Amino acid sequence: MEILDFKNSIEYSKLEKASKVLKKGGLVLFPTETVYGIGANGLDIHAVKKIFLAKGRKQDNPLILHVSDFDMISVIACNITEIEKKLMHAFWPGPFTIILNKTSIVPNIVTGGLDTVAVRMPSNKIAQALIKYSEVPVAAPSANISGKPSGTLLDDILDELQDKVDYIIDGGPCDVGLESTVVRVINNVPHILRPGKITPEQIKQVAGDVVIDKHILHKFNSEKPVLSPGMKYRHYAPDSKCVLVYSVDNNKMVDKINELSKNYKNSLVICCNENSKYYSYAKTLTYGIKSNLESISKNIFSSLRKVDNYNPDIVFIEGVESSGLGLAIMNRLIRACEYNYIEI
Ligand code: AMP
Ligand code: MG
Repeated sequence: MEILDFKNSIEYSKLEKASKVLKKGGLVLFPTETVYGIGANGLDIHAVKKIFLAKGRKQDNPLILHVSDFDMISVIACNITEIEKKLMHAFWPGPFTIILNKTSIVPNIVTGGLDTVAVRMPSNKIAQALIKYSEVPVAAPSANISGKPSGTLLDDILDELQDKVDYIIDGGPCDVGLESTVVRVINNVPHILRPGKITPEQIKQVAGDVVIDKHILHKFNSEKPVLSPGMKYRHYAPDSKCVLVYSVDNNKMVDKINELSKNYKNSLVICCNENSKYYSYAKTLTYGIKSNLESISKNIFSSLRKVDNYNPDIVFIEGVESSGLGLAIMNRLIRACEYNYIEI
């Protein structure tokens, strides 16, 4: 395994070497603007299998194929509609994934046996060049052991993945910090299957309409079919029990968390910088600035990864308003708390 430090500048000749290893069936851990990814040649069944093994990921949870340009899309997807094209051109390159009809070249292991494939064109320069040099669509789920919070800083994930990959590329902290918005267009209407940096409002502006899948903030019911298999699984959760608390009224939210944490000897509160000083019964871990959701999305996974170091009896996490980028933050937090949610 070799680590390439591209935090300050990219050495393209070394990146090209890593791309060739990826193309030939190796695994490369690399940064994107959303979270770190663990990448393999998306057309090579054996290479893709290695991703599932490295992550301990369930086989029916399909992977996203990452492309560097529009020409690569016609290799993996077909029957693309006007509205799908419009969305791709509006949000690519960037933190946006679209579910398209797959071509027969895409192995079933990538799509979990579905006849659709998830496609994204990242904007991160390292990710773009890695894909371009490899000349193949790159299958890349988030770089973390399945169930754990996604990796947004290399230090957070080195221990769990370094023995499982051929190259590790350090690109510094990820800009967005949350995985891409996943959309599937059904009857010309975009349905958001996973919220992210590209908001429902932005999608509506481009497509004229948008539907937010009900599973985004509500528990998956095993009797009904789910549009995105990843929604079924435990995700982002620390080992410690976490409870999400939210009120539009900041004082009410702080009072509620104080009232609850009073009952525990060793509780932890994950909160915005501004509120940290109000918690008298618990240790605190700050996740960003309340008025700046971008700062919270950037830090949230790293904060969740620190929780278990405190070995707390219980963790209370401050929620945010679930609109705009807040919808994506609340989706990850609700799942980190395994749907233990108090709204007042
Ligand atoms: P990750 O790779 O960890 O970023 O997760 C990818 C997400 O995209 C998961 O929630 C998958 O369920 C979802 N996904 C990938 N492919 C498809 C597909 N063909 N149809 C629906 N959802 C998909
Ligand atoms: Mg993931």
